Amino acid sequence: MPEIPEIETVRMHIEHKTKGKIIEKVTVGRAKALNVPVDEFAGIVTGQQLVDVRRRAKQIIISLSNSHSLVVHFMLEGFVRLFYSGEEVTGNPTIIFTLNSGDQLAFFKLNLGYLHLVPTVNLEAMPELAKLGPEPLAADFTLGKFLGLLAKRKGMIKPLLMDQEFIAGLGNVYSNETLFCSRIMPDRKTSHLNEVERSKLYHCIRDILSQATKLGGVYEEKFASDDKLTGGFESYLQVAYRTGQPCYGCSHPIETKRVGGRNAFYCPVCQQ
Ligand SMILES: [Zn+2]
Repeated sequence: MPEIPEIETVRMHIEHKTKGKIIEKVTVGRAKALNVPVDEFAGIVTGQQLVDVRRRAKQIIISLSNSHSLVVHFMLEGFVRLFYSGEEVTGNPTIIFTLNSGDQLAFFKLNLGYLHLVPTVNLEAMPELAKLGPEPLAADFTLGKFLGLLAKRKGMIKPLLMDQEFIAGLGNVYSNETLFCSRIMPDRKTSHLNEVERSKLYHCIRDILSQATKLGGVYEEKFASDDKLTGGFESYLQVAYRTGQPCYGCSHPIETKRVGGRNAFYCPVCQQ
């Protein structure tokens, strides 16, 4: 599932290529991905300008000129692609927005994921957005704030990092990477982490998410035919999906085990 660096990369692409353009036509391939009937959806969205593209946790929020917003969550498989005017739309899109430039913004595989139409004024009340924890890359997400949040917690650290109500936007890949960076084993009890480890974890979360975002994350799906950014962080992964391969720090093979129902990847020598 895409996490902050991947969604932020997609957000930047959508903003850069579609902001200010007008939706001329809507083609819906899978009505179940929407929260309103297709006719109503098309009626409200058609003719509107894309005025703003934001991210909250793993969701993209596209605001339209008529005070409505589109909220997209890719979940496990979803992705979006821009086909330039003259390019053939391939695959089996869930929904296509044809823009006044002739480009087509196509969302794919929104099966578990969704694309919801919400009055912009009601956004913050959406259950999917209302319950989210703080954004780890926000300027006001300080070390003090993080330590305060950690102080109340007792369970294992990796599942906690993935808990969207604790911090928003971290998933399996970056929880593994930040714990390797902090030299903390994924199944350590949060209450047993010492002061140095807590501080290190904070800095690793911020540093790795920033670097991964800058390099385009590890998403496999390119945004457009000229996209050279997406997936640039793949070769920087230290532990995630590297089971059996040598640790870049000590050469011991990377190991994996289930922690909190998900695969944890770690180096048993470098992490304690
Ligand atoms: Zn190691």
